[in-house]
Amino acid sequence: MYQSTRNDKTTATSKEAVLQGLASDGGLFVDPELGCFKIDIEKHLKSTYGELALAIFKILLPDFTETELKDCIDGAYINSFEGGDVAPLMKVGNVHVLELFHGPTCAFKDVALTILPHFMSVALSQKQQKALILTATSGDTGKAAMNGFMDVPNTGICVYYPHNGVSQVQYMQMCTQKGKNVRVHAVEGNFDDAQRGVKEIFTDPEIEEYARLKGVKLSSANSINIGRLVPQVVYYFWAYIKLVNNGEVKLGDEISFSVPTGNFGDVLAGFYAKKLGLPVKKFIVASNVNDVLYDFFKTGIYDKNRPFAKTISPSMDILVSSNLERLLFYMSGNNADITAEFMQSLAENGKYFVGNDIKAKLDELFIGGVTNDAETLATIKKCYDETGYILDTHTAVSFKIASEYATNSTEKVVTLSTASPYKFPQAVINAIDGEKMDEWEALSRLIEINEKPCPTSLSDIKSQEILHKSIIDKDEMRATVKVAIDQLF
Ligand SMILES: *Cc1c(COP(=O)(O)O)cnc(C)c1O
Repeated sequence: MYQSTRNDKTTATSKEAVLQGLASDGGLFVDPELGCFKIDIEKHLKSTYGELALAIFKILLPDFTETELKDCIDGAYINSFEGGDVAPLMKVGNVHVLELFHGPTCAFKDVALTILPHFMSVALSQKQQKALILTATSGDTGKAAMNGFMDVPNTGICVYYPHNGVSQVQYMQMCTQKGKNVRVHAVEGNFDDAQRGVKEIFTDPEIEEYARLKGVKLSSANSINIGRLVPQVVYYFWAYIKLVNNGEVKLGDEISFSVPTGNFGDVLAGFYAKKLGLPVKKFIVASNVNDVLYDFFKTGIYDKNRPFAKTISPSMDILVSSNLERLLFYMSGNNADITAEFMQSLAENGKYFVGNDIKAKLDELFIGGVTNDAETLATIKKCYDETGYILDTHTAVSFKIASEYATNSTEKVVTLSTASPYKFPQAVINAIDGEKMDEWEALSRLIEINEKPCPTSLSDIKSQEILHKSIIDKDEMRATVKVAIDQLF
């Protein structure tokens, strides 16, 4: 049974939690029994990605039947990933790079967002309901979510991204999205404004009633949805199994992961993997100069009162990392009252201190790391010069911190690679050639120098028709939801 991070009495089955996204009290759904069941890694050394996923989903989504889960897995993973492997592992310099960007929109979010619509369809069909998905995006989630939900029966999706806050390629990916049930809006403000707006709509009784009258439930495809988090647990095990199979580690040896972090969903999935029995020594939480998490892991104080910076790794430009709430719940010994207090303090003062006990527990497993834009560019260049491998701007943040860490550590280090370099060509070419060209010229140049081919979904994007032009104010978000309910259901 799932429950809210803020109240033991707000409970839901995993199907309900997937449909609802956020709990009604504003908390996030968590399973207090996480860790009671473990994955037997030895049994899965020869498993396919799908078989491994099934074993993990059976633990984390217990009220889905095995047949339902198998259908979801096949629907999501059989044909959507170029090359057939959901998560290839490469050795680059002194670290291993887990490439999570071979899905339809070229970012790691595809791993979860190709399967979430299948989870939702199953849950909806049982309740004979419809769902409107509301999603705030810093660039990658929005496209991946729209692609996943496009024309899925009984669903609609509204995406909100920060106006002028995403890359040119990300912008084109979103505003050219097809599908009758898709709505996209640029919001005047940054990602946190858009995310706050979506959260407010979820807890707005009037809109809930408006939707309910049409048999519609509002839901979320953000990483606050448990259906987003669960699929990400799989690739941590997948990386480990590969390292065992190619002789890099012995079964049972601990390894460390470095994760380019924004909303704390990806690294939290790693924590879940550890709870399910994966031998992990450290998680390195890699941030750009929006380094609120770096300070948090150093001091135990989460303080979002600081300037927001636009960087060349825009999907990590986040000051309120929503999924951290789940970690606090577990670190406080499954204490919803304490977690609720932290969140109240965050809402009222923009900060909280976790106390010395929780801080000590965090220190055992997490290390923060930070990298500025200049260092990120230098890392892309150095890695290209030394190995020929081209990192994207988000992966480079993590790669730098990971390879420095690996120099002084005995265990193997894996960095997650969250996006294809083809998604951020301007910054990547600027790093490698030292030249500033427009994004489309840079894309051509990158195609020339990169040994790895450009996915077709990106190579022809410039010439696609723009279908969505809406730019709205923060306080217009509510109204757009009502319009979508009227038009789509
Ligand atoms: C979303 C995203 C991140 C951040 O992941 P979180 O789960 O939000 O921490 C990092 N890199 C890329 C490319 C992303 O799209």
